Amino acid sequence: MASASAASHAESEYKKVICSACDFYKPGDTLECAAFKVLKYLVETGKLTLEEVDLAVSQACRKSSA
Ligand code: SF4
Repeated sequence: MASASAASHAESEYKKVICSACDFYKPGDTLECAAFKVLKYLVETGKLTLEEVDLAVSQACRKSSA
């Protein structure tokens, strides 16, 4: 089923972008926090792009070691 596969791919992209910098991330965890759901909603309703979320994660969450 193509749509289920596409949805699964999108879900893994959300996890990769949103959860990648999260201190609570655990591989294989299927729980979704409110922040994850809100960001996913904003992307799916066209308010934000996943690229904009990725930029915000980079700016706000990933700390430089320098
Ligand atoms: S707490 Fe939220 S942002 Fe963090 S890994 Fe879980 S779902 Fe992702």
